[in-house]
Parts: sequence; C-alpha cells; structure tokens
Amino acid sequence: MADACDLRSDRAQQMLDDALAARLQKASRPAIDHPYCLDCDEAIPLKRREALPGVECCVDCQAIREHKGVGNG
Ligand SMILES: [Zn+2]
Repeated sequence: MADACDLRSDRAQQMLDDALAARLQKASRPAIDHPYCLDCDEAIPLKRREALPGVECCVDCQAIREHKGVGNG
C-alpha cells in the first residue's frame, strides 16, 4: 500500500522541484529581452529596451495596448 503513496509523493516532489528550478532560472534573469515587437515584429530600439527592461512591443504597439487596456473590459 505504501508503494503507491511513495510513488505519488515522488512525482509531486519532482514537479515541485521542476517548478522551483524554472522559477529560479527566471528570477536569475532581470527580464526577458524582446529585440522585436511581439505585436508587429518591428525592431525595438536598444534604448527603449534599456529604459524598459522586459518591454514586449514598440512604441506604437505599446500605445495601442494601453489604449485597448483602458477600462479593462
Ligand atoms: Zn509593434
């Protein structure tokens, strides 16, 4: 009977370890760098990326996103 329990907890522990490792890996990086806009594939200027670490889109698409985001639904 104990075997099934041990197996389950082993798997759960493994998943926890994986999740923790992934989280630590993410945390070790300051932000994900996006050299290209996720919305229109336009190159995002280095200055903009330096000013906004982890920025995902160019100025134009950022404006569109913010405009869309107003009111949040
Ligand atoms: Zn864009």
